[in-house]
Amino acid sequence: MTFAEHRDWTSCEAMAFARHVVGDYRPPETRSRLIGGYVRALLAGGAALEAFVAARAAALRTRAGKPRAAAVRAEAMAAVLRSDPLCASRLAGGGAVVRGAFGGLDWELSVDSLDVGSGFFADVVSSRALDHWAWSPAHRARVPFWELHGYWTRLALTSHLLRQRTGMELEPLLVVVSDEPVPGKLVLSFANPARLACELAVVRALSPRVAAVKAGKLPPAYCGVCDYCKQRRPLERVHPASSHPVAAA
Ligand SMILES: [Zn+2]
Repeated sequence: MTFAEHRDWTSCEAMAFARHVVGDYRPPETRSRLIGGYVRALLAGGAALEAFVAARAAALRTRAGKPRAAAVRAEAMAAVLRSDPLCASRLAGGGAVVRGAFGGLDWELSVDSLDVGSGFFADVVSSRALDHWAWSPAHRARVPFWELHGYWTRLALTSHLLRQRTGMELEPLLVVVSDEPVPGKLVLSFANPARLACELAVVRALSPRVAAVKAGKLPPAYCGVCDYCKQRRPLERVHPASSHPVAAA
C-alpha cells in the first residue's frame, strides 16, 4: 500500500476500487501534480528523472522541444531548493523506499531524503503559496496545505516504519517550495509525538475496512462528491430542494 493508494481508499472507496482493483479509472493529471512530481524528479535526478520525463514528454516539452510553462516553473522551483543551504542539506540524504507492516497492511512509502546519521527524513512538497490554506471537506474547515494533503499521516507512517527498521526516532520534515513566479521555500518540522501517534491510531482503525473492501469482502462506498462519483455514481432518488445542502462559503 502506497500513501497515495491509502489516500484514495480513505477518500472514496468506489474510486479506489475502480482505480486499484478493477483498473478502469485513472484520474487526470492536474497541473499542480505535474509540477510537484517534476520538482521531486529533478531533485532526485538519475533514473527517476529519466523515467518521469519519458512518461510525460508531451506535457513538459512542445513538439519543437521547447519547455512548456509548467516545466519552466518546476525547474525554477527545484533550483531554489538546490541553492538554499538549509534545504540542500535536508535533501542531501537521497531518496529511499521504506517498507513494512502496520495495521494489517503491507506498506511501501517513498521518502525524498533519508539521513539516518543526522537523524531526519524529509519529503518535498510544492504548494500554491507558503501560507496557502484551503477548504477541506474532511475537516469541514479551511486548513493549511499540509493538513489538506494528509502530510501528518504520511510522515507518521514513514516515521513508524523507519523506527521499526532503525530503532531510532527520526525527525520528520517537509521541504516546501511555492509554485509562484518567484518561488519561496520553507522547512517544516513535524516532530510532535502526540500528533503522530494520533495519526497512526486513525490509520490502524481504518485499515480493517480498507483491507476488506480491497479484497472484495465488503462493497465499496461512494463518497458522492469526488470527480469519479460525479461521473459514475447512479442517482438513487429525487431530493427535496429544501433539504439540499449548500456549499460552505
Ligand atoms: Zn467519490
